[in-house]
Amino acid sequence: MSHGPVSEQAPTREDEREDDEPRVHRPRRAAPADAVRPTRAEVNLANLRHNLRVVERAVGRTPPAPGRAAVGPEVWGVLKADAYGHGAPAIARTLERAGVAGICVALLEEGLELRSAGITLPIVVMGGYYGPQHRGLEEVVESDLMPVLYHSEQVERLARITRERRATRSGFHLKVDTGMGRLGVRAAGVDELLSEISATPELELVGLMSHLACADAPDPEPTLAQVALFERVRRDVAARGLAPRHCHLANSAAALAMPASRYDAVRPGIALYGVSPYAGATPFPVAEARASADELRPVMRVRTEIVALRDIPDGEAIGYGHTWVAKGTRTIATIPMGYADGLSRALSNKGSVLVRGQRAPIAGVVSMDLTAVDVTDVRGVALGDEVVVLGSQDGPLGSGAISAAELAALVGTIPWEIVTSISRRVPRFFRQP
Ligand SMILES: *Cc1c(COP(=O)(O)O)cnc(C)c1O
Repeated sequence: MSHGPVSEQAPTREDEREDDEPRVHRPRRAAPADAVRPTRAEVNLANLRHNLRVVERAVGRTPPAPGRAAVGPEVWGVLKADAYGHGAPAIARTLERAGVAGICVALLEEGLELRSAGITLPIVVMGGYYGPQHRGLEEVVESDLMPVLYHSEQVERLARITRERRATRSGFHLKVDTGMGRLGVRAAGVDELLSEISATPELELVGLMSHLACADAPDPEPTLAQVALFERVRRDVAARGLAPRHCHLANSAAALAMPASRYDAVRPGIALYGVSPYAGATPFPVAEARASADELRPVMRVRTEIVALRDIPDGEAIGYGHTWVAKGTRTIATIPMGYADGLSRALSNKGSVLVRGQRAPIAGVVSMDLTAVDVTDVRGVALGDEVVVLGSQDGPLGSGAISAAELAALVGTIPWEIVTSISRRVPRFFRQP
C-alpha cells in the first residue's frame, strides 16, 4: 500500500526512543494542505504494547530472554490494511521492538511497504494472490517475504523462480480451507497438492495455516469443527514426513478463547489495536477470554476541533436535505470531518461526539468534509474546542469515550470496518507516552 507523502507520518528510527522514556511524538509536519486541519488520528503506541502483553498472557506466551527459551505460541501481529488504519510502518516497528516473532499482511504490496520501512521480521503474505501468472512471487522472493500458497500453479511458479534465482530452497506456508470457503486448498485437494510439494525439492513447507469463520460467535461448534479438520490435515502432512515449523489458525477471538486453536503461533489483529473481537457477540462463553478482552486499550483516537459556531433559530433546517430542524434556538458547531475522512454517513442524525468531556449529537447529515453537531447543552463551548469522534476525552464537563464497537453498532457494521475506514486524508500522529 502506498501512502502519499502527506499522510505518512510514521516516526523513523531516529526519532523513536527507548520504550520507557516518556515522550509525545511530534511528527514532521505534513504538507500544509493536510496539517492545517485539526482533524487527526492519534495512535497510542504504549497501548499497542500493552495489548500485545495482554494477548501474550492470554495465550501463555513468554518471549525468549537471555538464558531462557520461549514458552507458548508465537504472536504474529496482523498488519493488513495499513495496520487496520493505524499506520503499518510505525505499528510494525513498535511490535518488532516489543518482541513479536512475525508479522502478517494480506497483500504483497503491504509486505513490500514494511520491507522498505526497514522491518526485518518475518512477514507472511496471507492473501496468497500474486497477480497474473503469479508473477508477484518474484518480488516475494526478492524481498524475503513469506508466501502463502494453495494452488499447484503457485507451487510450480515459486519452484521455477527458486531454480532461476538462487541455490537455496524457498520456504512457504500452505493455506488450507477448513470452512471459510474463500481461499486455500480444499481439504479434499490437500493430498494431491502435498504429493506435488513433496516432489518439488526447490521448496520447503515451513508453515501450515487456515482461517476461522466463526471464532467470535457464542457457539464454539463451527470453530471446533474447523480446528478438528485442521488437525486432520496437520497429521496427514506429518505422515508424509513434512514438518512445517509453524502451524497457525487463530485470529484474535480464537487466540483469547480457544486453547486448541493456538498451535505454534496466533495471528491477532483487532485485539492488538485494543478492540474486543467479541463486540457483536452476546457474552462469549469463555470467561478468561472476556477478561482479556476487557483489559485491551484502544490504540486509535480520532479528534478534531470546532471550526465554526452559530445559533440557529427555531424552525430553521440545516445540512444537505434539511433533515434536521431546530426545535427552539440551538447552537450548532461545525467540525472539519466528514464521510471522506471515515466518519460514516450512516451516523447522520444518529451518532454523537465528545466536546468538553460531554456528549453532543450529530445534527443533520454527515457530509463529505464537514459535520454539524448540536452543542446547545455544552456549557462554555467555544471555537477551537477539541471534538472527539472515536476514543476518550476528559474535559471540564466530565469524561467519556466513544468506542469502535459503539460506532459499529450505530452504523450496522463491525469495529474492524470502523478503524479501517479512517481515511488516508486524516494524518496519523504517533504518541509514545
Ligand atoms: C485479518 C486476519 C486475521 C486477524 O483477525 P482479527 O480478527 O483481526 O484478529 C488473522 N488471520 C487472517 C487470515 C486474517 O485475514
